[in-house]
Amino acid sequence: MLLTALFSALLTLGLSLLATAIAVFSPTVGLSLLATAIAVFSTTVYLHRAATHGALVLHPLALFAFKFATWLTTGIRPWEWVAVHRKHHRFSDVDGDPHSPYLAGFWQIQVGNVFWYAREARNSETVRAFAGDILAARTWLDRRVFAHGTIGVLLGLALLCWFLGPLRGLIAGAIHLFLYVFVLSSSVNGLCHSRHLIGYQNYPGQHVVTVFNNWLVAIFTAGEGFHQNHHWKQSLARFGHRWFEVDFGWWMIWILEKMKLVTKVVRFRPVYAR
Ligand SMILES: [Zn+2]
Ligand SMILES: [Zn+2]
Repeated sequence: MLLTALFSALLTLGLSLLATAIAVFSPTVGLSLLATAIAVFSTTVYLHRAATHGALVLHPLALFAFKFATWLTTGIRPWEWVAVHRKHHRFSDVDGDPHSPYLAGFWQIQVGNVFWYAREARNSETVRAFAGDILAARTWLDRRVFAHGTIGVLLGLALLCWFLGPLRGLIAGAIHLFLYVFVLSSSVNGLCHSRHLIGYQNYPGQHVVTVFNNWLVAIFTAGEGFHQNHHWKQSLARFGHRWFEVDFGWWMIWILEKMKLVTKVVRFRPVYAR
């Protein structure tokens, strides 16, 4: 635990210094990275670990903040994301998987993941079958505001233009879109479902054998890249299981729990924890 905390702290410090240097050098790139970071944390903590798998419960204040951040930086409708992702777990890398490199080919998913996602998200039958609980729990705000993702994304873009000016704001939006959609999200579904140079498994032969952990993807997706750990036990709030598996999403959950903004965290003592 001490080693994990020390390694995480050093990595956090290094990445924070790097982000600050980038922001000073270029506010446009700095703000686009901030937007991407907000989208990444909202995706992993709220959409994935809380809404999809019930690995934690968010306080209404935190829930609203995450929904708002998701709307502004991704435009994703939570019930659609949850449905597509639950279907992915139900049919991982076999017929029925909405985005499998094994079925569609590696580059199809690594580059075109968003199109495979959108095709399944538009399927109302999938959404009803896999996210009925999320649909039923929708509030007035969910139906009237957060259901309109395009408005959220345009508002986010308007904020960037307000801070940076129209041209730089559009450039920042484009960088964010590229990073979130075509690099980070796609790498979780592409690289982490492919045998490649730095992919590894903590639980070989268990559950889905076609899934791998990728340390580099995990660092930039706040833990999502520890994908085999996650497929192994989907309901755990913590995706990083070994001391070097720095899971920034888990650290955010840990801090929010201390602030009483998160409860009912599904924990375990990882086999590899030291
Ligand atoms: Zn997967
Ligand atoms: Zn999952």
